[in-house]
Amino acid sequence: MNVTELARILKVTPNDLREKLPKMGFDIGFKAIKVDPKTAQRIMQEWPFLLRKLQQEEAAKAAANKTAVAEVIVVKKVVAIPHFISVRDFSTLANLPVNKVLAELMKNGVFASMNERIDFDTASIIGENMNLEVVLDVKKADEEKPENNKKIEEILNKEKSGDLLVRPPVIVVMGHVDHGKTKLLDAIRKTNVVAGEHGGITQHIGAYQVVRKGRPITFIDTPGHEAFTAMRSRGAKIADVAILVVAADDGVQPQTIEAYKIIQAAGLPFIVAINKIDKPTADLNKAKQDLVNKLELLPEDWGGKTVCAPVSALVGKGIEELLDLILLSADADAKSMKANPDADAVGTIIESRIDKNSGPVATMLVQNGTLRIGDQLVMSGNIIGKARSLKNYIGEEIKEALPSTPVRILGLKIAPAVGDVIEVGEGERVKGGFKKNTAQHPVLTTTKEEAENDSAKKLNLIIKSDVLGSAEAIEESLLKLNNEDVKIKILTKGLGNIIEGDISRAESSDAQIIGFNVKTSTQIEALVREKKVKVSSFNVIYDLIEYIKLEMQKLVVAKIERVDLGRLKVLAVFRTENKSQVIGGKVLDGQAKNKVSVEIIRNKEIIAYGKVTSLQSGKMDVPTVDTDQECGLLYEGKPIIAIGDIVQFFEDKETIKKL
Ligand code: GDP
Repeated sequence: MNVTELARILKVTPNDLREKLPKMGFDIGFKAIKVDPKTAQRIMQEWPFLLRKLQQEEAAKAAANKTAVAEVIVVKKVVAIPHFISVRDFSTLANLPVNKVLAELMKNGVFASMNERIDFDTASIIGENMNLEVVLDVKKADEEKPENNKKIEEILNKEKSGDLLVRPPVIVVMGHVDHGKTKLLDAIRKTNVVAGEHGGITQHIGAYQVVRKGRPITFIDTPGHEAFTAMRSRGAKIADVAILVVAADDGVQPQTIEAYKIIQAAGLPFIVAINKIDKPTADLNKAKQDLVNKLELLPEDWGGKTVCAPVSALVGKGIEELLDLILLSADADAKSMKANPDADAVGTIIESRIDKNSGPVATMLVQNGTLRIGDQLVMSGNIIGKARSLKNYIGEEIKEALPSTPVRILGLKIAPAVGDVIEVGEGERVKGGFKKNTAQHPVLTTTKEEAENDSAKKLNLIIKSDVLGSAEAIEESLLKLNNEDVKIKILTKGLGNIIEGDISRAESSDAQIIGFNVKTSTQIEALVREKKVKVSSFNVIYDLIEYIKLEMQKLVVAKIERVDLGRLKVLAVFRTENKSQVIGGKVLDGQAKNKVSVEIIRNKEIIAYGKVTSLQSGKMDVPTVDTDQECGLLYEGKPIIAIGDIVQFFEDKETIKKL
């Protein structure tokens, strides 16, 4: 008999049959075309029974594997550490002998002593090799920060007021997406006389300066308020004045409200720039009314205190007036905008990345003192490098950077995070030979409990969004979708556009990247294709949730379930052959069905398995017979059925559970 024919009878594919038979004890060979008739008969007869046995064996094996996997994950101990930790403290937390940790460090080219400190990345890399999951202890890490931020204030308070000079104001631009933040920053940059003299080519280093009426003004030029929020969430104070951009044709929108809340929380003086006034659909009055209704801000010309500047970033209208208003606002608050240029420099990191050729590159906004080439840079008491080269926003090499100047620093050994405070001075040496991108310390949400709960499928996600508020809202909605079959695991949630570091993290942790209101550069898109990482972007939370639901459904495995159809009591045996019998009986419950499997039950025990290959009622072939009806059937299987036996009809159904 042909294998294909046999496969057809058994309702499986020939390949499936060739694969299954050896496991069932029939050695027909993987390339067999024919099976001898005797073997074919035996196979047909015992198939349902053997198939169930095989399925049970495989299910048991899968369950055993699952437990094994679960065990491996459970073994991975979670160690939570701050940004820096001494080798000794790390060993204690990880419950490992110090020598073992030192040896692992050595293997990775880091020669440290027990009392020396290693940074977070170094710890996580050696941790991986030692079956540890190293996570950032957010609480401890946060404790490191305020100290530093207080430091800037303390330093300024300590300065003799005679040494303090007025420094340029630092401005941050915030507002709803598409209201023109980027365009406004471009328009302001174009008024820059200094850059103009040098051909006007400015480099993006996270901030730039313009000069208005002989006075420099510093702009943080990361569009959106993500950078600002990231800095705020780490306790850094960098801006003096905020510009809240509101499109004249769109009014106050959700992110306008969120931005305003941030401004309020930071206690920042601000100016509302009502943008896009060139548009025919622009409605200045309506925009102002929106400010009153939605933000309780009464514009100055309506008798309130809110300074509003109508502008068009597109045609460059109102920009100079806006700059003048900024200077006025700075003057009103001049007391707080002072610094001592003679002190050692201290400042906040506003941008940070790893350059393939130059290593860590970061932009610092100098907040007090003057940063000079050769200065030793210290973060949280740890030496993190030397200012080897300093560049301004036009890309020129400079020798020193005064207060309120953004400056790109080369010579760092590690990439600090946005919001980190760096100062010049003495500090402890930190060991660390290799770096992952720490430009934005991810908010790690993995907990031990999650790692242990492993019976379900996992959907790993990396979430990037425009504002902290939406990241949190998304996380909350997504975690509600968790169920016993599929668990969502949010590896990191971060602010800002999707960057290279996200892609490599997604690749290494088998995760998808979900963007919300963020952009992807063409460079990143190319990388995504190359690495085959799944990246999906959304602007509407509902769409995002629907997408995740579908992705979760895809992970649900089909279950093969036995469905009992009905039982029949044997009332007559009409004919008994070698491998088959023709019997008659009455359906006790459910339905009798043609072309399904049957079990023969006697005294509550299964005595044989077989198949129904023909079903008749009143001499007619029928597909089913209902309860209390009588019928005749052809049974193929061990011919041992006797009057009084029960025939149990059943089917194997593949079901995919709907979540
Ligand atoms: P952002 O998301 O707030 O940074 O907004 P963009 O600066 O990217 O601007 C969004 C869109 O609005 C772009 O297509 C801009 O060209 C356009 N836009 C920005 N400012 C103006 C303006 O003053 N007038 C007009 N007509 N369009 C503008």
